[in-house]
Order: sequence, then structure tokens, then C-alpha cells
Amino acid sequence: MNIILLGPPGSGKGTQGSLLAKRLHLKQLSTGDLFREILNHPTHPLYSELQVVKEGKLVSDDVVNKAVADAIQKPELRNGVIFDGYPRTIAQAEALDEILSGMGRPIDLVIELDAVPEVLFFRILGRQICPNCKRVFHERQHLKECPVCHIPLIRRKDDNKETIRKRLEEYKSKTAPLRDYYHNSETAYIRFLVQDDSKTPQEINDGIMEQMKQKSIL
Ligand SMILES: [Zn+2]
Repeated sequence: MNIILLGPPGSGKGTQGSLLAKRLHLKQLSTGDLFREILNHPTHPLYSELQVVKEGKLVSDDVVNKAVADAIQKPELRNGVIFDGYPRTIAQAEALDEILSGMGRPIDLVIELDAVPEVLFFRILGRQICPNCKRVFHERQHLKECPVCHIPLIRRKDDNKETIRKRLEEYKSKTAPLRDYYHNSETAYIRFLVQDDSKTPQEINDGIMEQMKQKSIL
């Protein structure tokens, strides 16, 4: 099974992606992780093309598509993939369709994960990240260090109200076309909106699985 996860920053895509991956025995493929992995391997064919990541610049569609096409050949990804943070553009979505149909492995489901603005702001403004393993925490957990790496957690400099507003607007303008793209395709589509912060990630995951059962995807 191949699943695409769409969602704005703060929607919990990464968290929900890893929960779904565990429960459905799929592998989560995040382009951020993929780029970091390639940048640790100077012999990788895309190593030099990905140096722009270090400068904080955007990676071209072409290079992202190549990196993903290469990654999904891995045997451990044969069972199915949860795409997290990819595709981001129509060009990437078209490329992914082509890559997957060439392998006889279509996309089975698109999950759009969204949350009301209050929840997105609360989550991002309180977000703390481990600089080593990149795990994400929230200040309400009152952690002084990463429970896995035992080093102090950091905040992203751009996690402030103004930049969050900009990032959300940018996301909306970029994602609206993707939503239409998948709505107009045969692919099953689920939208899950988080209304408040009372549910745990596990409960939200149960809700997503419930919708999948209703759509006979599970
Ligand atoms: Zn860590």
C-alpha cells in the first residue's frame, strides 16, 4: 500500500506518518530525512546536487523526483511507502505517478491532515526539536533534553507567529492545486481535521484508521 500524507506545518504529519507506518507495516519516506541521508554519503549520485539544502535553498523538482525514484527501489520499501512531505507540487505529483505506475505500484490513498489555526499555532509555537535525531516535542511536556539522545532541545528560529502565518499561506497556495489533482484522480482521499488539542496522537490515528475502514481501504 502506498499512502501520500498532505498537511500544513504543525498538522502532525510526521507523527501520524510514523504511527501509520508502524500499524500498517509500511515505511515512512520523508524527503527531509532522505536528503540528510544522501548528504551523509558523498558517493551518492545526487550528493553534489543536494548541497543547496545546506544553504537552506529549495531543491528543484527534478532532483527531488530523482532522489525519491532512487529511494523507493530499496527492498525494505517494497511493502509500501508513506510519503511525508512529498509531493509538494503538481510536477512532483505527476513524476511520482509515473515512477509508481512504472513499478506497478499505484498510490492507494491520499490523507489530508489538517488542523484549525489555533491548534497549528499552539503546536508550532511550543515546538522543541532534538538537533541530533530531529524528533519533535512540545514545551508542555517539560523536557530539558531529548529522551533518546540526552542533549538539549532547540527551537527553530522561524517558529514565530509571523513566519508561521507566512508558511501556512504558502502551504495553502501550493497545496490547493494538489488537492484538486488527487480529487480528479481515482485515488481514495481522506481529509482529517483536528478541531482542538484534546486528542492524543494515538486517538487521532485511530480516527484516521476508522475512516480507512469506512472507505474499505483496510
Ligand atoms: Zn534526539
